Order: sequence, then C-alpha cells, then structure tokens
Amino acid sequence: MSAIEIETVDKSFGKTSVLRGISLSIRSGEFVAVLGPSGCGKTTLLRALAGFEQIDSGAIRVGDTLLSGQGRHVAPEERGIGVVFQSYALWPHMTVSGNVAYGLKVKGLGRGEREARTARVLETVGLTAFADRRPAELSGGQRQRTALARCLAMDAGLVLLDEPLANLDVHLRGEMEEEFARFHKASGATMFYITHDQSEALALADRVAVMESGRISQFASPSELYSQPANDMVATFIGEGQIAPITDFQPDRSGYGFARFFGEQVRVRNPPSALPRSEARIAFHPGDLRLTDTGGLAATLRRITYRGDILRVELSLGPDERTFFMNVPAPARIEAGQRVAVTLTDGWVLPDPKAEEASH
Ligand code: ATP
Repeated sequence: MSAIEIETVDKSFGKTSVLRGISLSIRSGEFVAVLGPSGCGKTTLLRALAGFEQIDSGAIRVGDTLLSGQGRHVAPEERGIGVVFQSYALWPHMTVSGNVAYGLKVKGLGRGEREARTARVLETVGLTAFADRRPAELSGGQRQRTALARCLAMDAGLVLLDEPLANLDVHLRGEMEEEFARFHKASGATMFYITHDQSEALALADRVAVMESGRISQFASPSELYSQPANDMVATFIGEGQIAPITDFQPDRSGYGFARFFGEQVRVRNPPSALPRSEARIAFHPGDLRLTDTGGLAATLRRITYRGDILRVELSLGPDERTFFMNVPAPARIEAGQRVAVTLTDGWVLPDPKAEEASH
C-alpha cells in the first residue's frame, strides 16, 4: 500500500502548459479517480506518476520515496507501480498466462512461483479457462481482464489505470467496474484511475479529482462533488448540474440560508463561511425542481423526453425565459406548451469567485 504526494507539479510541452501546479494528497489504499474533459492533462499526470514523463517542477512522492522532482527522476521500471492502459498493451504472440507470467520472469521469480501466482490471479479475474489463448482470440473485456491480471500478479502497492474501460461496450463496462472494485478490496492497493466518464468515476472512487485545463478544480468524495461543487465547472460537469442567479442571499451558519430564486423565497444550502450577498449564483440538479399546486413560479414546459422512471422536462422560467431541466416522476399528466408552477427544493450557493481570488 502506498500513499501518494503530488506537490505543485508543473509540466509543459514546448509552450503548452499542460499541468499547472497540481497538488494531490492521496491516502494509502484509497481509490482515486481523476475526471476531466479531453485534453485537460489527465494522461500526462498519470504518465508523470508512472515515470514516463519528467516533470518541470514540483515533486512526486510515493510512501517515503521521492520519485520525481528536486533533480531526481526514478525510472518507470524501478517505481514498483502497476499500470493498466486503455490499449491493454498485451504481447500478441504470448498466451494469456504467458502475458501474466512475463513480468514475473523479468522480476526474477522462479518457475514454480510464477506458475502458482499466474494461476491464482487468472482465477481471480475469471480467466482460468482462457489461459492458453492468445489476445487475438479474446473479447475486449477478456483482454482488459488479462491486463488487470498481469498488473495484479506484480503485487504493486500502487496501480494506475488510464481509461481502462474506454474500448468496452456498456454491458462489459459495468462488469469490469465491479471487477476493479473487487480487485481494489482484495489487494488493498492504492488506485489512481483516469477517466472522462463521470458515472465511472463516481461509482468507483473514494475521492474524485476533477481536472480542468491542467488544474484540479476540486478533490472530494462523489457526494460532496455532487452536492457542494466548488465552482461552475464542477457544478455543470457532475450529475447534469445547472446554474441560476439568486438575489437577497442570506446565509446561515448552520449551512441553510435563504435567497430569492426568480423572486420566490427559497431555502438554500451555503458554505458555513458564506457572507450575505445581494446577488449570487446557485447550483442545482434537475431533480431539485418540482411541480407544485400551491404558489411557486410560473414556467412553460417546452419539451418532454421519456426516460423510463422519469420524464426529463425542458422548461423556461423567469422574465427572460431561461431554459432549465426538471425531472418529473413518471407517469405524469403533463404536455409540451403547458403553463405550470414549479418550486426549487434544494440548491447549493456557489462560492463567490471574487472572495476566492482575494483569499489566494
Ligand atoms: P484525453 O482524455 O483526450 O486522453 P487528457 O486529459 O488525458 O486527454 P493529455 O493526454 O494529458 O490529456 O494531454 C493534455 C495536453 O497536452 C493536450 O493538449 C495534448 O495535446 C498535449 N500533449 C500531451 N502529450 C504531449 C507531447 N508529448 N507533446 C506535446 N503535447 C502533448
């Protein structure tokens, strides 16, 4: 098991600054996902951790060992880190068991130990019956399992996974997610998992680092990201979040304040340190808007999409007819064009960016 300290790491390619002062403190045995849009620098961060990229400044420590920074760069093969890539990176001429055992041979293990360990990990990932097949004779999921088994066999305390499910269909993804969770539990390894898929990150990780343009926007548990986003990017990236203006914001130290949402008084959640503001912004989810029979705000239903247990409703609200989304439990008697009354049942007041800047 290994704790990871990433301290203000910078990395540029030519004039392109790809990692900008990245700091992450990861606990031993933790499952961390790094989530962000394409090109935000996730893979570069993973490669820096694995030792495939040199960093420009900052430091990377695993356990008590300085791996990168301060003039030091430990070679990838000497880091004792397991890596599982999206592309599997299997040897095509070797069988499944050959692929798994190869790393153990390089590591200098004797034949008996190699065979025993290979058999054990193939059993763990459910590939015993496929031990003698070559990668070309496997499905995508089985190839990914082989890559995972190879990583497992090396008994690494830290495992890095770079979009390992990107090549798999939805059904297999679900199965492999369970596989990763089982692997994490059984091995106790620290897992560092890169993805651009929020459902994957939220389902698997203890904590998620949301990354944007080479910076970490927020590093928190899935439920905290969902209910207390640190900024606009996290608010809109996670769980179909949406942002609206509020006025007359009166915070409360208990964390539950009041504000006006298009004129209607609503209860809001606020950071305990928030100050009163005449104008602020609120983040909420489609499930936080409800149809109401008493009072509420006038809205027009624009479009209704059937989603099984809910109807996803696009509606317009306020004098400038702003568009928002609302979930209505199905079945419901509503139709496009209808005028209704809605109310906001929950929302999180976003931190004031000006106050944030001042405190940096
Ligand atoms: P994706 O999800 O699409 O894989 P990512 O978040 O993993 O994206 P990176 O692969 O880390 O992003 O790339 C971040 C930026 O750095 C991109 O703009 C990319 O073009 C650039 N980049 C990455 N590697 C190199 C390199 N070796 N030389 C020059 N630019 C690079």
